[in-house]
Amino acid sequence: MEDELYEKWKHLVTGLELQRIIKSERVREAFLKVPRYKFVLERYKDYAHVDEPLPIPAGQTISAPHMVAIMLEIADLKEDMNILEIGAGSGWNAALIYELVKNDVYTIERIPELVEFARRNLERAGYDRVHVILGDGTKGFPPKAPYDVIIVTAGAPKIPTSLVEQLKVGGKLIIPVGSYHMWQELYEVIKLDKENKVKIIKHGGVAFVPLVGEYGWKE
Ligand code: SAM
Repeated sequence: MEDELYEKWKHLVTGLELQRIIKSERVREAFLKVPRYKFVLERYKDYAHVDEPLPIPAGQTISAPHMVAIMLEIADLKEDMNILEIGAGSGWNAALIYELVKNDVYTIERIPELVEFARRNLERAGYDRVHVILGDGTKGFPPKAPYDVIIVTAGAPKIPTSLVEQLKVGGKLIIPVGSYHMWQELYEVIKLDKENKVKIIKHGGVAFVPLVGEYGWKE
């Protein structure tokens, strides 16, 4: 059963490479190490290799593989980087991040049920250096700042200044910015100086669940 799931997973990864969505050997290797079926609900395991978002508890989603690959290619993660993810969901993206940085990874989730879900998935898959924190990620996570990269996996109405403040100079924030109802543009926000001046590179249209919090959408 597991063999069959892994064969299907490898096929998906090859497809993402052929489409030039996975571009680097490093992201390819991380994808091969962390198959999505380890992070979905039992009843969706057979669909984990399908390139679409899937439901996880509390009405949220685990993102489509192509979307996660696009964000990780933009992030250009290197070993030992200090990374914050906002929106732990299933824990899958945080595990991929760990494979790319081989360093402690911090991921924030606002829904307690999903904190438990992500922790359980990560523990089963052996990721004891991924730390799932319950809280409002729009405020970042000051205790471990400054970060090389902050990846937000939910859609924001605007760039939260709190997150730019917690980046190193030269660091980047990857965040979908746009409307509440599932349409945003993927922004790469590079911090240029200590005064929080930024350069924004736009990477096209995406569809994420809303980022809900003090500097995001209101509940
Ligand atoms: N990265 C996840 C994964 O690998 O499964 C998928 C994340 S899902 C698309 C977006 C997540 O962001 C949801 O679990 C949602 O509860 C969470 N979220 C929304 N607003 C948040 C906030 N202010 N702080 C932390 N998490 C938030």
